[in-house]
Amino acid sequence: MKKLKVQAAVIGAGPGGYVCAIRLAQLGVETVCIEKDNWGGVCLNVGCIPSKALIHAGKQMQHLRHAADMGIQIQGEPSIDMGQLQSWKGGIVDKLTGGVETLLGHNGAQKLVGTAVLKEPGVLQVTTADGKVQVEADHIVLSTGSSPIEIPGFSFSDPRIHDSTSALALAEVPKKLVVIGGGYIGLELGGVYAHLGSKVTVVELEKQVLPGFDPDVSRVLQRRLKKLGVTLKLRSKSLGWEETGDSAVVRVETPKGEETLEADAILVTVGRFPNTENLGLDKLGLKMDGRFIQIDDQCRTSVPGLWAIGDVAGQPMLAHKASYEGEIAALAIAGHAAHKDAKTVPAVVFTDPEVATAGLMEHEAKAAGHKVKVGKVPFAAIGRALTTGETDGFVKVILDASDDRVLGVTIVGSHASDLISEAALAIEMDAEALDIGMTIHPHPTLGEGVMEAAKHAIGQAIHVGNR
Ligand code: FAD
Repeated sequence: MKKLKVQAAVIGAGPGGYVCAIRLAQLGVETVCIEKDNWGGVCLNVGCIPSKALIHAGKQMQHLRHAADMGIQIQGEPSIDMGQLQSWKGGIVDKLTGGVETLLGHNGAQKLVGTAVLKEPGVLQVTTADGKVQVEADHIVLSTGSSPIEIPGFSFSDPRIHDSTSALALAEVPKKLVVIGGGYIGLELGGVYAHLGSKVTVVELEKQVLPGFDPDVSRVLQRRLKKLGVTLKLRSKSLGWEETGDSAVVRVETPKGEETLEADAILVTVGRFPNTENLGLDKLGLKMDGRFIQIDDQCRTSVPGLWAIGDVAGQPMLAHKASYEGEIAALAIAGHAAHKDAKTVPAVVFTDPEVATAGLMEHEAKAAGHKVKVGKVPFAAIGRALTTGETDGFVKVILDASDDRVLGVTIVGSHASDLISEAALAIEMDAEALDIGMTIHPHPTLGEGVMEAAKHAIGQAIHVGNR
């Protein structure tokens, strides 16, 4: 068996693992990054990036449908060539994953393609196309990510049933799509196909889509989804499905009784679970936190020399949280006193309109016992939003009433994904309302909405009525 001895071995090359490996190499730690499938992990190959490419295409279709509002004439309904869309999406993925592979090499990290299993603390066995390799490392970082949850009766091996991965690769737009689970992945992918022309129905157990989010946000989103022709079955549970020849029928328990929904394709997006199995972890007595690997604020597990980052190491299962932990773990392994002290992990849902939050949402701040001041500015009051015809949504700024410090910002509206970084910085820097409100924001921009909402929270808004 071939042998390799390094200071650090990183298992998985997603946004957690590849960032960690690059940083380790930059810090002078002899490192190997081991990946069994594709450089870039879920995020670059079958997650964040391909989904955002399809979402963009769907929105372009929608813009074309409404182009006549601005006097732009298009003959008939725009149509989509799914083959071309998939190859455009594939080109973007290839560019980015190739970039990750190059960057690993450029920074001096070794790369090994194969499946790693822990044999004992400090020793991995990697099965590669050319046989087995034993890797000995002082530090092993688990960044093995997560996989979609299957529900009984809806097997991903059935061609009718899709997880997010196969839903990103459809060769045709399904005429009727049933989405089980109204969380962020279901709404993003359901939204793509609704924009591309599918008749979409979303089945959600809770009373609102995006359970756990500010109900005001869900209301805006639900209104928009209905306008788009998406049917929402809330407080509803999928019971099973049957093949009917050309299509399928999904049985759903709704507050009005049992209903059946026709479907050409069924997308199941009820969550993801951390990849902790088949890694040889069982015999280590590793401390767990539910299904996740328990880590401390330096990403150390309970086993000396074993580290964990990203989806496998806890919520929120988001790419930027994985990368942040990757950098912290690398610094700690290299002997620096780094530790996780981020005040917020912002979250974005790339629906139409987009949703983004940083810090606490209004209901969370209240539940945590804060007395709050809330400023709220509708997109319809932001000049820039009017010029693009995207006026659905609002910016909400939540302050601690005792000192006017920003506890959180919640945005639903176009480009919320880009607007939220200002809020994250404000929270990290302990900003007060006027730190945002009296920062000069360029005009006309959507960012003025954040400035105005901060002022609205303290009764100093200019362009909306103060309470
Ligand atoms: P992963 O990206 O899952 O990478 C883990 C890697 O480890 C994989 O490549 C896997 O092959 C490899 N691996 C596993 N076991 C082994 C082994 N034994 N040996 C060798 N290699 C192994 N997050 C966002 O922040 N923004 C978004 O817009 C967003 N959109 C998403 C859309 C979809 C459809 C999905 C599914 C997810 C999305 N996410 C998004 C979540 C994001 O993809 C994950 O949070 C992120 O990829 C986690 O990174 P990670 O490094 O922990 O793991």
